[in-house]
Amino acid sequence: MMKIETIQTGWTLVSSSVPDRSKHRWKKAYSRLFQSKNSRIKVPVKCFYVTVADHAFLIDAGWSEQVVDNAKRHLGFGLNFASEPVMLKTESANHQLKGKPVDCILMTHLDCDHVSGVHDFTEKKIICAREEYEYAHKNGIRYGKILKGLTFEYIDFRADTQAIFGKSSDVFGDGSVIAYLTPTHSAGSVIYKIMENGKYYLVVGDNGYMKASWEKGILPGPLYNADNMMKCLKWIKGKSKDKNCLGVLCAHEHM
Ligand SMILES: [Zn+2]
Repeated sequence: MMKIETIQTGWTLVSSSVPDRSKHRWKKAYSRLFQSKNSRIKVPVKCFYVTVADHAFLIDAGWSEQVVDNAKRHLGFGLNFASEPVMLKTESANHQLKGKPVDCILMTHLDCDHVSGVHDFTEKKIICAREEYEYAHKNGIRYGKILKGLTFEYIDFRADTQAIFGKSSDVFGDGSVIAYLTPTHSAGSVIYKIMENGKYYLVVGDNGYMKASWEKGILPGPLYNADNMMKCLKWIKGKSKDKNCLGVLCAHEHM
């Protein structure tokens, strides 16, 4: 039976403009530059363990155990400054899974609070959008050195006139997991639809930082394309009201 378990891997301390860019007038305020330490907010960092059909996999991986040992060394100065992790070793996805099977890790995108934990699963197949990997390599300031030592496989996107941005992929070839390419928060952000018997969950990553993002149309700080993001938030809001939609899961909801 289809099941999604939310795994919270601690917290991240970020500028209040990360979930909501209207909090600061300067559009790069999410970098935390020129802001006092006290102005940071504490945001949960979540990933998801999914079992559907005969698959068992993670969507994103939250923070790695390495942030507990030495966050600055793991993330580099810039990423640690902009999104300081707060986590106990027992809160890593690897620890919380307690040896449950993981066939692969599907990435919604490659920001550090999603990809860091992949370093605890380096023997697994890690899958992301090629667009995201290439974008991350061109954006050293946003992605830092967090991808160093990781190898990815790419989602095989096809043209799909029904998909929100015209590209989708049937990840396992059996209709249980559909990936949609969404150039919104980053160039290769992905939404995953997890399906069984016509019912589905949407795992939206940071397309929708929290529930209020799509309910009220709140844009996050880091953006690749603001118009696409607004279009995507409206799309998620519509899906959240669909009777076949069992839930919309995002990475940073306080709950
Ligand atoms: Zn995030």
